[in-house]
Amino acid sequence: MAIELAEKAKELGLKYFLISYTDLFGSQRAKLVPASAITRMQKDGAGFAGFATWLDMSPADSDMFAVPDPASLTPLPWKKDVGWLASDLYMDGQKVEQGPRNILKRVMEQAVQAGFQMKSGVECEFFLTLPDGTEISDKLDTAAKPCYDAGALMRRYDVITEICDSMLELGWGAYQNDHEDANGQFEMNWNYDDALITADRHVFFKFMAKSIAEKHGLRATFMPKPFLGLTGSGCHSHVSLWKGEENLFEDEAGELGVSALGYNFIGGVIQHADALAAITNPTVNSYKRINAPRTISGATWAPNTVTYSGNNRTHMIRIPEPGRFEMRLADGAVNPYLLQASILAAGLDGIAKKISPGKRLDINMYIDGHTVTNAKRLPLNLLDALRALEASATLTSILGQSFVSAYTKLKHGEWNAYAAHLSEWERLVTLDC
Ligand code: ADP
Ligand code: MG
Ligand code: MG
Ligand code: MG
Ligand code: MG
Repeated sequence: MAIELAEKAKELGLKYFLISYTDLFGSQRAKLVPASAITRMQKDGAGFAGFATWLDMSPADSDMFAVPDPASLTPLPWKKDVGWLASDLYMDGQKVEQGPRNILKRVMEQAVQAGFQMKSGVECEFFLTLPDGTEISDKLDTAAKPCYDAGALMRRYDVITEICDSMLELGWGAYQNDHEDANGQFEMNWNYDDALITADRHVFFKFMAKSIAEKHGLRATFMPKPFLGLTGSGCHSHVSLWKGEENLFEDEAGELGVSALGYNFIGGVIQHADALAAITNPTVNSYKRINAPRTISGATWAPNTVTYSGNNRTHMIRIPEPGRFEMRLADGAVNPYLLQASILAAGLDGIAKKISPGKRLDINMYIDGHTVTNAKRLPLNLLDALRALEASATLTSILGQSFVSAYTKLKHGEWNAYAAHLSEWERLVTLDC
């Protein structure tokens, strides 16, 4: 075995390992394993009852084993004697097909077969709230245009820098932190990397931001739209495909410096956008961020239409510079592995079928969107998106039938639970019918 975790424990002074995995809804599950027991767990995995988490399993199923990937070992910067590990899921000696990390690895393997390595960077916006999540944590953070507000950023210096110092210590290439467009909202950026590494870091970042915020008596939430009048939390994903050291999306002669391959990838993302939304915008609440009315700050910064542009943030896809594009659809609730896997699946189909993304739009979509009558709209709610995913034979074949069945089954359950909820709004508009 390349990396012996027991040796690593000695070298790094780790007393425990947190063998963790991410279920279909993106929740972190883990077992805390003493270093003295890690050798066996490294080989056989830590046992879980899959049904107890958001996976489509039954209480009668065999044990599920989370087999840690030693390459993902990350000592918790805020609890230094614990080493975090991302894991791959197995049951009865087989890889679990609906395991999100297994899915990403499978789709990335398909990309490798086609000659491509996907690299990506994510921007995980979040709010710092009071512990109960009902209000933002900073009473003074009330500006109508709070984006980049220096004072509000510095009032959260202790939390933000503890997280940023941690990323620097871990060697992620953290490079900037800012107050975002909503009161109480922040974003912290680190460098892009191989899509699997980025997905593991994305999972870890959410865990770290929540843990460190909690240490400071606050709560970090990635909920897509926690406060109706304020801009929601997106999770923009930047994408490029590589062959060794060569960025295959870069082409000086291409429009905006993007290659024909890059445009075909974008074409796939555009073609499959409504089905992708079931994954990138996975909660009932997600649909209050996209297709939303203007926020107090003046713009939602979230897309309404399936369109692309150059360096213009009012479309679903933005090409900020040569050699990459930004997918602005996903939100804070997205499962980090499924985010990368689904974008790559759509892009690979675009490449295989040489799908054209159509014409670039350079207009301000928020103001002049009505002038484009043929622009495809995004799904209006989770149910529409789930139906689009179920209807997509292409995404189903790339991501796996058992995944799509499992995911849509559980998500329909969530939709039904929501539909069964009687809201105050219903009473208001229906009481006197
Ligand atoms: P913005 O707010 O302008 O959308 P950010 O600086 O917040 O951009 O985030 C940009 C992300 O894109 C970072 O994670 C960055 O490392 C990543 N990125 C830059 N170049 C590439 C590339 N070629 N491929 C993938 N991701 C990239
Ligand atoms: Mg037990
Ligand atoms: Mg950003
Ligand atoms: Mg942002
Ligand atoms: Mg962005």
